[in-house]
Amino acid sequence: DKPRVAFIGLGNMGGPMAANLVEAGYVVTGFDPSPAAASAATEAGVTPADSAAAAARDAQVVITMLPSGKHVLDVYQGTNGDGVLAAAAPGALLVDCSTIAVDDARAAAGAARAAGHRAVDAPVSGGVGGATAGTLTFMVGAADGDLEAVNAVLEPMAGRVVHCGDSGAGQAAKICNNMILGISMIAVSEAFVLGERLGLTHQALFDVASTASGQCWSLTTNCPVAGPVPTSPANRDYAPGFASPLMAKDLGLAMTAADTTHTGTRMGQLAAEIYREFASGDGAALDFSAIIGAVRDDQNE
Ligand code: NAD
Repeated sequence: DKPRVAFIGLGNMGGPMAANLVEAGYVVTGFDPSPAAASAATEAGVTPADSAAAAARDAQVVITMLPSGKHVLDVYQGTNGDGVLAAAAPGALLVDCSTIAVDDARAAAGAARAAGHRAVDAPVSGGVGGATAGTLTFMVGAADGDLEAVNAVLEPMAGRVVHCGDSGAGQAAKICNNMILGISMIAVSEAFVLGERLGLTHQALFDVASTASGQCWSLTTNCPVAGPVPTSPANRDYAPGFASPLMAKDLGLAMTAADTTHTGTRMGQLAAEIYREFASGDGAALDFSAIIGAVRDDQNE
């Protein structure tokens, strides 16, 4: 028998993820304070509840897909200890798929375990497209004994599930990966702009770098100039894709983790600053590869 699932946070990602669980035959009760998100999920077969705790009442699995660590901790605790932790069935599997700070993930897992539950962090990559198609990559922080149950419930939403270690390890993997991505996109953009000024065509630089030591995902899949990779966002006016504010958020989380661990990350710091500025201005609605526009504007006098 499939466990009863509560799904808290039915936004751009959570909505289609919950729909895929329903499609796979799970009984899913959901909560989102946004009426639009709640009604879209209801149409997809999710049973609506009036609060996170009401959705989680006696659930054996509780999945959260929320904007930040504060949201996750608030939903877990409730206002007077009347949150998800108190409402879920004893020993429930609590799977947080939000992208949050590693310290918040560990705090949430600690609180969940103290309340007698099993805690898992399982942030994702793959965006809204992957959420809709059920092909997300999940980066899982969980105790070994919980893996079988975790894999089973993630399967309808997943392309890949990677076990990264115990609680917090999933979030750690996500922010470390996205720090590489943010830095590499800026590096590729600077190379194309320098090439332009040297009279090099985009295609020539692509043909060399994509088969040489400059090869990376930011170049060969999400190429920041139109042409060489027809499916990259640059070919559709930088419609995301992976929006710049989400990159700025993830780099911010990486820098918080760098602070708490006293890790020197000078490239990461710079990338975080560059994306923070871009995401609050021209880049607010654009794919993160649109950063090449900011690089072009950044004249070295
Ligand atoms: P979103 O803003 O579309 O959805 C978040 C939802 O949470 C909203 O519908 C909001 O109403 C709801 N919410 C807020 N407070 C709540 C509460 N107390 N109880 C229940 N619901 C509540 O955001 P999203 O794009 O779905 O992203 C969700 C998470 O996934 C974020 O942590 C984000 O960083 C991460 N993520 C997003 C993407 C992406 O491409 N969108 C990719 C990977 C990871």
